[in-house]
Amino acid sequence: MDDKGFVLIDLHTHSSKSDGILRPQAVVSRAYDKGVRILALTDHDTTSGWTEAAEEAQRIGIRLISGIEFSSQWSGRGIHIVGLNFDPEHPVMVEAVKRQQNARLERTEMIVRHLEKRGIRGSYDGARGYAGEGSVCRPHFARYLVECGAVPSVKAAFQHYLRDAKLGAVNGMWATIEEVVSWTEQAGGVAVLAHPEKYKLTRAKLRRLLGDFRDAGGRALEVASGRQDPASVSELIALAGELSLQASVGSDFHDPEHGWQDIGCVAPLNSEVDCVWSEWV
Ligand code: MN
Ligand code: MN
Ligand code: MN
Repeated sequence: MDDKGFVLIDLHTHSSKSDGILRPQAVVSRAYDKGVRILALTDHDTTSGWTEAAEEAQRIGIRLISGIEFSSQWSGRGIHIVGLNFDPEHPVMVEAVKRQQNARLERTEMIVRHLEKRGIRGSYDGARGYAGEGSVCRPHFARYLVECGAVPSVKAAFQHYLRDAKLGAVNGMWATIEEVVSWTEQAGGVAVLAHPEKYKLTRAKLRRLLGDFRDAGGRALEVASGRQDPASVSELIALAGELSLQASVGSDFHDPEHGWQDIGCVAPLNSEVDCVWSEWV
């Protein structure tokens, strides 16, 4: 807390348990060094970093909130929903993670076949190598595509190979937003719609998504995500208010070299905003 009573909060980060670069322990200590005092580790479809992160959090004195970033689908699109402050050992959560891991495996196989059709060989082993002990995610394929010379950069890998609509949200593969919200709630947590601007929806469509999300029991909207235009933060706060959703914030940290989404890189919210963490701290 600084002398004005401000506490830096980051409720969206990734470790090497999914597509982040740092181990869970290192994510927690980096967060502390960046001044974050309330943190959630939200790896894609897994809570496997929880124990390691919680031990480190206790050791250095940072409040760790349990977290996960679920992949889901809505209206033929991939939508990410962050679950926060649930019991990681709750049977519903354990089952949900298993199901999501199976869906990820299916998606991984689909990417491998898609790349093979386009003349890229060995992508499974290549991506696996980058994933290490974590689950294989698209950025791992991207790094392999750079390594084998198919593209000059990770960005180009997404543009030319991995952002294919077919690979984003395949009908029936990911859970629906209703399912994901319900798993999170049953495990005692709250569901947050992640990075709303990333989906490139029109305002009308975003309103429709948020309405459906709220009707399913979703409680909050991530209004600040990484380095962002202040005008868009205010707009999202207004939108959250209109839809009776609370506000959440998170950097979506993956890699220390990505300064625009380093840990703690979130716009501060003014004290009138109804925040998702208000009951926890
Ligand atoms: Mn990611
Ligand atoms: Mn995401
Ligand atoms: Mn994320």
